[in-house]
Amino acid sequence: MNALETQLIARINSEGPISLADYMAECLLHPEHGYYTTRAPFGAAGDFITAPEISQMFGELIGLSLAQCWLDQGAPTPFTLAELGPGRGTLMADLLRATRSVPGFHAALQLHLVEASPSLRQVQQDSLKGFKVAWCESIDALPEQPLFLIANEFFDALPIRQFVRDGEAWREKRIGLADGKLSFGLGPEAPQPALEHRLLDTKDDDLVEVNVATAPIMATLAQRIAQHGGAALIIDYGDWRSLGDTLQALKSHAAVDPLTAPGTADLTAHVDFEVLCTVAAGAGCNHSKVTPQGVFLERLGITDRARALAASLEGAALESLIAAHRRLTHPEEMGNLFKVLGITPAKTPPPPGLLS
Ligand code: SAH
Repeated sequence: MNALETQLIARINSEGPISLADYMAECLLHPEHGYYTTRAPFGAAGDFITAPEISQMFGELIGLSLAQCWLDQGAPTPFTLAELGPGRGTLMADLLRATRSVPGFHAALQLHLVEASPSLRQVQQDSLKGFKVAWCESIDALPEQPLFLIANEFFDALPIRQFVRDGEAWREKRIGLADGKLSFGLGPEAPQPALEHRLLDTKDDDLVEVNVATAPIMATLAQRIAQHGGAALIIDYGDWRSLGDTLQALKSHAAVDPLTAPGTADLTAHVDFEVLCTVAAGAGCNHSKVTPQGVFLERLGITDRARALAASLEGAALESLIAAHRRLTHPEEMGNLFKVLGITPAKTPPPPGLLS
């Protein structure tokens, strides 16, 4: 039994069963034993691989899309260039390299990274040598000025609650103890006003998920964009509205039991893009269509970029570039599972690449 499991069992013994959101928060961000606080999980040697770690093309194209959007909005100066959950800092490094030749962009930007993990902040600092970076704990700390923001696989890492339908009420899935071990159970039935709309598309025993932090984070960033201008590109796996259990625990690229060895596996859940769109619209922003990642990257010219890079490669390096292009765009790989959403001020077109 690991140290976090011992602590969780003691907590459940004294407080009773805890919600899945509380469990995820402890597993991912516990200061001593949390997954993101203690590990460098990305890449071939880690537990999962993300798009920016697959190829430099990902961050480059996102950079050019955001920079074009900045130009289209009159090149506001200064502006905040921000990333939520930057991981190893690879996407931001690629974005900054690709936008070096955009006149005025680098001189106007103030770089802010929202990152909870102290060890990942260190890795990000190393990736972004030569740039002045300000880190913040939460999006509320971002300056009140135009905001151009990227979030790749950030929202899927935020804690969720799960509810199982019981008549017109819901029972929350919780983590308690069975035979001294962590075990899933259901809480008492209770009405959930926030799930009113889900009574229309669910039946008894269906499970729905609520990402507790998504709406407040989206509200803050949409308010900044509505008031000061800017754009957000949000990329994640998920769809318009999720139904069923999408909690996933990954370790060394394989699915594992989420309750075994807490803090040692990456825990994620599908992102509900409906919530992001509804909150953005409520704050007075425009949002793009939820666009498949493959479509977004193709519209930004990933194939031309791959050809340009291929011209100087051969052998294994060329094979790897071709595989990366396919992995990022093909509908059977990340191309369809991952979606891109663009948020801009009212009556402003979405960043290039997105369907409006
Ligand atoms: N965007 C990166 C990493 C995705 S993993 C990539 O594509 O490779 C999720 C990232 O979000 C990690 O950097 C993690 O430490 C960070 N994170 C998770 N929960 C967070 C929170 N509540 N606040 C700030 N950062 C968080």
